Amino acid sequence: MTQMTVIAASGAALPQEPFLGRHLIGGEWRESLSGKAFDRHSPAHGVLASRSALGGREDAEAAIRAARASFDSGIWSRTSSKTRATVLLKAADLIEANSERIALIETLESGKPITQARGEASGAADLWRYAASLARTMHGDSHNTLGPDMLGVVVKEPIGVVSIITPWNFPFWILGQKLPFALAAGCSCVVKPSEMTPSSTVIMGELLIEAGLPAGVVNIVLGYGPDVGGTMTTDAEVDMVTFTGSTAVGKAISAAASATLKKVALELGGKNPQVIFPDADMESAADAVTFGVYFNAGECCNSGSRIIVHEDVADDLITRVVALSRKVAFGDPLDPATQVGAIITPQHLGKIDTYVRDAEKAGAEVALGGARLSVPGLSGDFYQPTVVRGVTPGMAIAREEVFGPVLSVLTFRTIEEALALTNDAAYGLSAGVWSENVNTCLEFSRRAQAGTVWTNTWMDGFPELTFGGMKQSGQGRENGRYGLDEFLEVKTLVMRIGKTRTPWVRQG
Ligand code: NDP
Repeated sequence: MTQMTVIAASGAALPQEPFLGRHLIGGEWRESLSGKAFDRHSPAHGVLASRSALGGREDAEAAIRAARASFDSGIWSRTSSKTRATVLLKAADLIEANSERIALIETLESGKPITQARGEASGAADLWRYAASLARTMHGDSHNTLGPDMLGVVVKEPIGVVSIITPWNFPFWILGQKLPFALAAGCSCVVKPSEMTPSSTVIMGELLIEAGLPAGVVNIVLGYGPDVGGTMTTDAEVDMVTFTGSTAVGKAISAAASATLKKVALELGGKNPQVIFPDADMESAADAVTFGVYFNAGECCNSGSRIIVHEDVADDLITRVVALSRKVAFGDPLDPATQVGAIITPQHLGKIDTYVRDAEKAGAEVALGGARLSVPGLSGDFYQPTVVRGVTPGMAIAREEVFGPVLSVLTFRTIEEALALTNDAAYGLSAGVWSENVNTCLEFSRRAQAGTVWTNTWMDGFPELTFGGMKQSGQGRENGRYGLDEFLEVKTLVMRIGKTRTPWVRQG
C-alpha cells in the first residue's frame, strides 16, 4: 500500500514581483558595491521569490566598520537597559503586526508550510519579548566580604561586535535566538542570512529601524558564505561569531576565527535519538516520533531521525508510525492544510535519496516511502514520508544528518544497550525517552549525552529554557539566561576604601 496524504496545488496567489533585498549598512539600505544580485526561486512553486544584492568582501567590511563605530560610540552599548528593552518590545510588536508578510516570504523561499511559518513569526516575537526582560534584569555580582577596606564588583559588559550567521531551515526563528539576546547585552551586530532565505532578515532590519534602533547597531549583508561569511569570521574588528548550520562549516568557522581568538558560539547538527521502552504510552510515542521526523520536512537540527525502540514493541511502533505517516499532509506549502512542504533544493533532495538507497543496499528495509513525491499541479521538490527499518549502527543513515523526512529505526534489549546506542554518535544535540517508569526516565536523562533531553514529549521549547549541543553538535548556549551570557564579558572591579593601602616600597 503506497497511499499517502498529498495536498495538491492550492491555486493561492503567487507574488507578481520578487521581494527586493538590499544590505543594511550604517542605517542605510545599499546595493552591492559590485552591483551584482542573486535570485531565489520558490522550491515548491518555481516562482521568483526574491532578488537580493550579492555582497562581497568589501560590503561585509563596510558593515563591520559601521558596527564597530556604533559600538565604540556607546550609542547602544552604554545606553540604559530601559532603552534597550523598549526597542526590543517595540520590535516584538512590529513582528506580530508584520507576521503575515514575514510568513509568506519565509514559505516562498524555504518551502515550509504557511501555518508553520506563521507560528515561527509569533514564536520569534516571544523570543524578542523574553530578551527584553533579560535586558532589564541582568546584573553582575558584588563582594562585600573582602575586609572592611575592600569592595569587589563584577560587572557584565557587552562583548562588542558580533557576527551572526544563520541557515535556511528556520531563518526568522534562528535569528530570534541570537539577535535580540545580542542587542539586550548591548552588542552591535552584522548579520548574514543564508543566500536561500535572506528576505525575512531584511524585513527584521526594516522593523528595527521603525522600532528606533540607532543606525549601525544592526547591519545586514546578503551573499554567500565564503565571501561575506568568511570576512565576518576573520576580520579583526569582530569580537564574536555566533553561527547555526552544518558541523563542517562550524568547524571551518571555528578555525578561521581562531587567528584573532574571537569567541565562537556554534549551534550545529544532530542525530537525535528517541528511545522507546516497552512500558511507554505507545499512542503518544508514535505520534511524537511522526512529528519529530516530518516537522519542517526533517530539515531540522532537532529532527528525531534516529528511533531506538525496545525489540518487544518495535513492530507495534513501526506499524503505528507508518499508519500515522500516511495521514500527514505533504504538499503545497501555501495551503493551510499542509503539514510538510518542499525540500530546500533539488541537490538536497538528491542527497536525502542517496542516504535511503545506500541504507537499502546495506540491508535495511524501506517500510514506507523512499522516493520523490509528486504533488499534483506543482513541479517543485518534494520527498515522500519515509520509514527505514532494520538499520544497524554502522550505516550512514544511522550516524549522519539526513536532513529530510526519513526515519531510521534501530532496536535494543536493555537500558545499557539503549544508552550505548544513544551515546554512540559524534553529535549530542537532543535526545528523548519514552517510559511510564520515572526511574527509567531519570536514569536515561542523566546518562544521555545531549544538550536537551525530553521525557515523554518531543521538541517542546521555551525562550526560558536554554538550548545547545554537546560533542560535535556545538558549543555555547542559546535562549534562557545562558543565551544572554554568551554575549557578555565579565569585568572585575577591585576598590580600596580610604587610605588603607600598605606601601610596598620600604621607606627610609
Ligand atoms: P551551511 O552550514 O553550509 O550554511 C549555513 C550558513 O553558513 C549559511 O549562511 C552559509 O552561507 C554560511 N556559510 C557557509 N560557508 C561559510 C564559511 N566558510 N564561512 C562563514 N559562513 C559560511 O548549511 P547549508 O545551508 O549548506 O546546509 C548543509 C547541511 O548543513 C544540511 O544538509 C544540514 O545537514 C546542515 N544544516 C544544519 C542546520 C542546523 O540547524 N543544525 C541548519 C542548516 C543546515 P550560504 O549558504 O549563504 O553560502
